[in-house]
Amino acid sequence: MTSEFKLAVSGAAGRMGQRIIAFSNESKIVSLAAAFDIATHPRIGDDVGLLAGIGEKGVLLSDSMVAAKGCNVLIDFSSAEATESHIKFCAENGINLVVGTTGLSDKVKADIKKASEKVAVVFAPNMGVGINVLLSIVNKMAAVLGDEYDVEIIEAHHNKKKDAPSGTAIGLAEAVASGMQVSLAEKAIHGRSGLVGARPKKEIGIHAVRGGDIIGEHTVMFAGPGETIEVSHSVLTRDVFAKGAVRAAEFLAGKKSGLFNMQDVLGLK
Ligand code: NAD
Repeated sequence: MTSEFKLAVSGAAGRMGQRIIAFSNESKIVSLAAAFDIATHPRIGDDVGLLAGIGEKGVLLSDSMVAAKGCNVLIDFSSAEATESHIKFCAENGINLVVGTTGLSDKVKADIKKASEKVAVVFAPNMGVGINVLLSIVNKMAAVLGDEYDVEIIEAHHNKKKDAPSGTAIGLAEAVASGMQVSLAEKAIHGRSGLVGARPKKEIGIHAVRGGDIIGEHTVMFAGPGETIEVSHSVLTRDVFAKGAVRAAEFLAGKKSGLFNMQDVLGLK
């Protein structure tokens, strides 16, 4: 049975966009109806099914978000600059939205919140199942372990990643801060250098490593008196994000408005 819930994909020629197109092909809830990328992309006009390696889909790579008009949901994995206009466009045209793009400014995050009054939005810096389980675990660990355990978050990504620290590392830090009942803005420290002195209690250290082809690694270390606990997550393929993004789009089918995250999509709340 063909679904009537029409999907548009932005950043469709990108690493994530192509895998999202591939997995949307397996969905019984959404069906690909539009795909676009930046106007200067050399593959504009090509069939996106061929681009994604799943055979002809009859959907051509467009150079404009206007292609998404009439669709029910847009999955956006493009760039921080582009996402701002995609959010506005979706709110104005009644298109539900899945935002996976990271490195968004506070203003764009506020725009997402505002848009969610008009359309339903899933916004998550990491759409993988495993990391979302980790988010809920580190929140509980921080709450239970208390002041005597120092928390450090170390992330590693490929050398083309634009933003640092990763959206996921920030998400993990927020989960830890909420477990500790502190404000992340007050307690976060990004790397250390020089005569920094003794480590204050409840500081949350965040460290970004960049190199090679690393898809995404995150470790949360709880260093306490006489013991260290580390929880780690490694991504072996981007497909975990792409599957999660399609699942998020399916979750939005029939929803009118509201702001959701992957914890909602996966029923982890
Ligand atoms: P990529 O560079 O391979 O792809 C991005 C695509 O967006 C490119 O094809 C680019 O041409 C396109 N683009 C740029 N400007 C555009 C515009 N104005 N309109 C339409 N398309 C435009 O990058 P990627 O690895 O696919 O990652 C994309 C984003 O997704 C990044 O912000 C990345 O950090 C994020 N990401 C999020 C998750 C998650 O789970 N939330 C997982 C992986 C990556």
